[in-house]
Amino acid sequence: MAGIYIHIPFCKKACYYCDFHFSTNWKVKTELLAAIEQELELQRNYLNGESVETVYFGGGTPSILTGEEINAILDKINTLHHVAASAEITLEANPDDLDAAKIKELRQTAVNRFSIGIQSFFDEDLQWMNRAHNASEAKSSIMRAQDAGFENITCDLIYGYPLLTNKKWKENIQTLIDLQIPHISSYSMTVEPQTALASFIRKNKQQPMNEEQSAEQFQYLIEELSKANFLHYEISNFGKEGWLSKHNSNYWFGKKYLGIGPSAHSFNGETRQWNIANNYKYIDSLSQKKIPFEEELLSPVQRLNEYVMTALRTMWGIDLKKIENNYGKEFLEEIMHTAEKYIDKQWVTNNEDKLILSKEGKLYADLIASELFIT
Ligand code: SF4
Repeated sequence: MAGIYIHIPFCKKACYYCDFHFSTNWKVKTELLAAIEQELELQRNYLNGESVETVYFGGGTPSILTGEEINAILDKINTLHHVAASAEITLEANPDDLDAAKIKELRQTAVNRFSIGIQSFFDEDLQWMNRAHNASEAKSSIMRAQDAGFENITCDLIYGYPLLTNKKWKENIQTLIDLQIPHISSYSMTVEPQTALASFIRKNKQQPMNEEQSAEQFQYLIEELSKANFLHYEISNFGKEGWLSKHNSNYWFGKKYLGIGPSAHSFNGETRQWNIANNYKYIDSLSQKKIPFEEELLSPVQRLNEYVMTALRTMWGIDLKKIENNYGKEFLEEIMHTAEKYIDKQWVTNNEDKLILSKEGKLYADLIASELFIT
């Protein structure tokens, strides 16, 4: 079973913190959608005939597409691949796009899961981020989607930025719990170098992020969502039983995925490849039936380190037997030697041959993973 990711690189506004590939110029939208279909054709054998279990429209802002445009892409995928009847088909959507007409249109597609970029339920915070939606749209978009029968909804929230008091953070979380959202992804605000936010901080127009505040808000998030019966199944992801994201889980379990569109990444079990992050060059190259990508053959050590990094972030942890069987005893011993320090600190537990982060260890996931890397 494999997944397909479609990158739609257009947004209405540039959020100040964002370093994804997108453009606010939509002039070439039609050409880009044609190029996406062309790339799907050219990559028809990439998944080696494996059945497709998940399709994920990400971006950018895929909810700017019409139902007809989404259907055209899904039809193309269906002609080229066997898509499982129970496939999870996710559309990332921004609240300002989810008006009644759009939701009605989306009911006519096979999309069965929304990932809504809420980020906050406070106007001042949304303006500070330069989001295209406001607080009232954040709430009404969710309710409209639910009223139309979409149950499988995940919402994004951001924490750890100067404007977000603990009081507001509690309200943001509580609002999603009250709305009975079954899945939440939540990220600490990170300052990526090429963003407007980084530039504001460099020019002293903006305070830097505060790590202590971020850690406190993360802990609060974990506690509240655990009380509300969410499984904390990956550092940034929480879902109720039966509502975990299949698409993301497949990434973490190392399954194959095909990424289509500018900047999209693909993985076939051995190599990783990524498309050019430029809409015009992408369209131009596909018009000549060439996929503009770079590729990296992953060495066993790289694959092991990727496994360590992704598995440690999940509730299933690092499977020590798997490391021994797939990579050998020597690497296993090296990892265990480093892990002892964190087991002693009680940041990591070793249960039934699985290394799993403790509550405190979750605050240091990246540090611990990088220390466990084989060099
Ligand atoms: S809507 Fe999403 S992809 Fe677009 S600029 Fe904002 S954060 Fe980035």
